[in-house]
Amino acid sequence: MPENDTLDKIDLDIKNCTLCLLCSTRKHTVPGEGGFLKKLMIIGEAPGYHEDQSGRPFIGAAGKILRNTLSKNDIKINDVFITNIIKCRPPNNRPPFINEKKICIQYLERQILLLQPKIICLLGNVVSSYLLGIKSITNERGRILHKNELKYFVTYHPAATIYNRNLLNIFEQDIKKLAEYLL
Ligand code: SF4
Repeated sequence: MPENDTLDKIDLDIKNCTLCLLCSTRKHTVPGEGGFLKKLMIIGEAPGYHEDQSGRPFIGAAGKILRNTLSKNDIKINDVFITNIIKCRPPNNRPPFINEKKICIQYLERQILLLQPKIICLLGNVVSSYLLGIKSITNERGRILHKNELKYFVTYHPAATIYNRNLLNIFEQDIKKLAEYLL
């Protein structure tokens, strides 16, 4: 981590970043946003269309589910830091390539080092697999996991719950557990 790192410095480095080809197709970088009263980081896979248009994370349909579910559990969206492992949108929302993740992860690592979260919530298989080596989140979700002195909590990506009531129920139960942990 650069000396005296700040969120503003990280945002600026991301804004100027041309380390992978996604810089040529993005409209905006999406570094992440939020506050840190709850000491909770929530990490998804990559920005989608609406996020690319606005430069803000989780503002589409999946983001609405995430925000509503947090709100139902008395977690204010501005009290948590929300971001993705990839800071620019992959074209047509394709999954990020492994080299894109390998290059971009440096910004997430800086954000984690700087914010020192009490717990990191990972949304979905891609991010859980990449950061924790989890093959399927079905057996690992909804409980605290430990790696490299950090605590993680894995659940489904809210996008997976949009047309699946069963997954939505599980997602809501998981976020409730996470909220109880943060009390
Ligand atoms: S995805 Fe990450 S590494 Fe690639 S250009 Fe954007 S900020 Fe840089």
